[in-house]
Amino acid sequence: MTRTFPSDRPEMPPPVRFSLVHSFTAEDERVSRALADFCLSRLAMQAPLDRARTPDELHREAGQTVTAKGIGADEALRLWRDVLGPACMSVDHPRYLSFIPSAPTKAAAGFDMLVGATSVYSGSWLEGAGAVYAENQALRWLAELAGMPAESGGAFVQGGTIGNLSALVAAREAALHARGTRPERWAVCITAETHSSVKHALRVVMDVDAVDVPGDARGRLTGPALREAVAALPAAQRDGIFAVVATAGSTNLGVVDDIAGIAAVAREHGWWLHVDGAYGGAGLAAPSVAGLFAGVEHADSFIVDPHKWLFAPFDSCALIYRDPAQARAAHTQHASYLDPVNVEGEWNPSDFAIQLTRRARGLPFWFSLAVHGTDAYRTAIEQTLTVTRQGAELIRAAPHLELLLEPELSVLVFDRTGWDVEDYARWCTRLLDEQIGFVTPTRHAGRVCTRFAVVNPLTTADDLALIIDTMR
Ligand SMILES: *Cc1c(COP(=O)(O)O)cnc(C)c1O
Repeated sequence: MTRTFPSDRPEMPPPVRFSLVHSFTAEDERVSRALADFCLSRLAMQAPLDRARTPDELHREAGQTVTAKGIGADEALRLWRDVLGPACMSVDHPRYLSFIPSAPTKAAAGFDMLVGATSVYSGSWLEGAGAVYAENQALRWLAELAGMPAESGGAFVQGGTIGNLSALVAAREAALHARGTRPERWAVCITAETHSSVKHALRVVMDVDAVDVPGDARGRLTGPALREAVAALPAAQRDGIFAVVATAGSTNLGVVDDIAGIAAVAREHGWWLHVDGAYGGAGLAAPSVAGLFAGVEHADSFIVDPHKWLFAPFDSCALIYRDPAQARAAHTQHASYLDPVNVEGEWNPSDFAIQLTRRARGLPFWFSLAVHGTDAYRTAIEQTLTVTRQGAELIRAAPHLELLLEPELSVLVFDRTGWDVEDYARWCTRLLDEQIGFVTPTRHAGRVCTRFAVVNPLTTADDLALIIDTMR
């Protein structure tokens, strides 16, 4: 049967659904399979550590890749495989021990491919209900580990930087709403080991003063030091304080602040308590260290990065608020075209952070958690803690090394007796040149030293011993 159109419809060319770059021909299928095969083989193998190249080297080998006519899939993939990919370090290598590594499970990394292939928009419930539902179950597990109330919730955002900023903005907005007036200068209490992203958020992005409270011998912010530092401030400055940031696992040293003590001071003053557990928050799942986090249940906001110690690929930060309504009041974007999105009772991740469009950043983590179960996470995190403690033993037993701090979580900070900055630099370069490991120098108490951060359950004590041996 042929359909006839009303005669008043204007003449139009016959409809063709075609785009040169959106076809799925046999050739496109071949390319898609090549990409899938490439991903599968990367998941199946232990990728080499690899290393950065200079801009000149890359230009020589990769040349101009973006051209008017295109270089074709085979050449583009070859360039990635042979030149560009190997110029990116494999952060999941078991002897990548710098900064905070990342060690995605195969389930999480595999599901990330699916997220990329399926065009899930997860900024709103309207468009991404299924994704948001799944992500919220992963958030709930984390909220329960932290002992936050049943009505707590939030969203997955890019990383700890955006998580910290979004939480602090919500805190300031809540303070403004509660007081009805602005102080001359807003302020937030931190300490020297507070992460650079918090300092940057305050000083540069938010133009808020940081009250620097002295840390204890381990660099921890404690309740008594906080109370004392604030009592010594001029009243006008004290009145500007609206929040305090407690670090649940400092990045450089892996130590947890006195969260309970800080929470008590925050309560006395009516401040917002933000707990930055970007790296260390995963320790809540490990019974051997969970006690260090006492007081986190009082957090008004809490973050933890699944791409750090929770085995998800980049990038992902779980941001959880005690009272999501306060976050909504700060972050919901209003525009007439967004009216269909802002429906009462529906959970819109864009309401909880500085973001509108959002990749479903929590889905790879959710999938892996759903597949393996939370017990497997506990075991895997405990394993990294065991290897860290074995590493501490190795360092203590090595006459050429000095352990500078008993590890609390999974960071080891230690010194090679007699080495200066240049010795460390030479050693780090050699380790990478010989593809033995990736370790960088750091500083502790003003002194150059080095550190291992162990978040990869595939890292063994033998891996640590291998590197320690190169320091003789
Ligand atoms: C890594 C880290 C951050 C920043 O997180 P990104 O995901 O890199 O943006 C913030 N705080 C702490 C304690 C961290 O370890």
